[in-house]
Amino acid sequence: MNCDACNSALTEDDDEYVYNGKKLCEDCYLQVIKGPKSCDHSVVESIVSKRLDK
Ligand SMILES: [Zn+2]
Repeated sequence: MNCDACNSALTEDDDEYVYNGKKLCEDCYLQVIKGPKSCDHSVVESIVSKRLDK
């Protein structure tokens, strides 16, 4: 499977994190839950889209 945020392939060795119904790699999951304003979903979405741009 792939991370729904950064689309990187996750191996079976990787832990699987689910946030808001999305499967995330550990890296993206930590960014989402540790975002500067976790209550502001637009901030979270901007973080995710930045990662998609690379
Ligand atoms: Zn990811």
